[in-house]
Amino acid sequence: MRSYHRTVPAPADPPLGIDVIGVPAGAPVELEVRLESVSEGVYVSGSVQAPLAGECARCLDTVTDAVDVELGELFAYPDSVTDETTDADELPRVVDEQVDVEQVVRDAVVLGLPLSPLCAPDCAGLCPDCGERRADLAPDHGHETLDPRWAALRGRTFGEATPSAD
Ligand SMILES: [Zn+2]
Ligand SMILES: [Zn+2]
Repeated sequence: MRSYHRTVPAPADPPLGIDVIGVPAGAPVELEVRLESVSEGVYVSGSVQAPLAGECARCLDTVTDAVDVELGELFAYPDSVTDETTDADELPRVVDEQVDVEQVVRDAVVLGLPLSPLCAPDCAGLCPDCGERRADLAPDHGHETLDPRWAALRGRTFGEATPSAD
């Protein structure tokens, strides 16, 4: 069994993440990887740790977090029984005696990401009327909303003074 510990910069293209959150390009990705030879191929296991940056799903404020996930994937040897009985998109293959750890790391990190990151568990989001963060607004913040029918009436009453024909 071989194992190594490496710190690599996060890739920029495609980025290591999803639209709302991911590992910033160039940020250190800490890999702890073990490669184990098994009868059907190479079993890759270990862990990945990386910082995250994203956007709060409710208020769009910046969210910083970290991901810490476990890896575990069998890379099948060409011509093994596993190779014959599975598709390459189900299980990766050992190609030229190499394993592409990047794809496994990518899959593990993406699975470990929050689908809707929040700046705080109780984030109150944005005011639907002015778009400001509720956290920055007064507790009694609100907008006077006028019923559109009344608004129309008010427009007519206080609007342009139409000269009377009489
Ligand atoms: Zn928020
Ligand atoms: Zn508002």
